[in-house]
Amino acid sequence: MEGYMERIQWLKKIIEKSQYMVGLMGVKISSQCGCTNYRDEEDSYDIESKYGYSPDEIFSASFYNVRPAQFYEFYKRDMISNLGEISPGLMALQKLEEQGKLKSIITRDIFSLARRAGCKNVYELHGSVFDNRCPHCGRKYQIDYIQNFRGVPKCEKCGVMLRPGVSLVGEMVDNSLLTRAATEVQKADTLLVMGCSLKSSLVNTFIHDFNGEKLVLLNSEEHFADKKADLVIYGKPMDIMKDLVV
Ligand SMILES: [Zn+2]
Repeated sequence: MEGYMERIQWLKKIIEKSQYMVGLMGVKISSQCGCTNYRDEEDSYDIESKYGYSPDEIFSASFYNVRPAQFYEFYKRDMISNLGEISPGLMALQKLEEQGKLKSIITRDIFSLARRAGCKNVYELHGSVFDNRCPHCGRKYQIDYIQNFRGVPKCEKCGVMLRPGVSLVGEMVDNSLLTRAATEVQKADTLLVMGCSLKSSLVNTFIHDFNGEKLVLLNSEEHFADKKADLVIYGKPMDIMKDLVV
């Protein structure tokens, strides 16, 4: 069993040889960067005792349509009050993209962490809290407009309730986005999985598209499926990325 630094060196070599690396970023990255993660069990319990509904119920399309006031109370107070920190690990991803090593990132993060770090080719499967718009006229709204609006945020022009830029529970991911993301994975010679297990739904969605050489896993928790990876490094993925590039 090699130590942590040996594994970092090993990952460096993999990246050096790689011509087309694609990153899959799980939701754990969001919480590790300080964002609220309603899928996290502890956060989820707090929310349920506060609102009387589970986060999954509140964050659903039907709840948004039927109880918009409660939806937006939750959304403003518990989802977008904390947008997380752009950590050195995220900046390391940007550096790798700039060097032409990391070709794209496919993520379930809704806080645009990779984009905010400067990464350009990011597939945000569940959208972003930064991309809000009016479903009627299509006008776009910055996040601070939503944050500062008293009550249910409405379009300045037509008065229609704004739609947050994220997919709600029970909504399908945009098919063309999925197809484009899958094409990226098909081209990859290295797949870098960060912040989720190889059994997560994110990996499940794309693993069949991957025909490359190296499957690398960076995750803080062990899982029985880890041995399928060519290289596993345990720890917070963004801490690992920082150690890799420094
Ligand atoms: Zn409008």
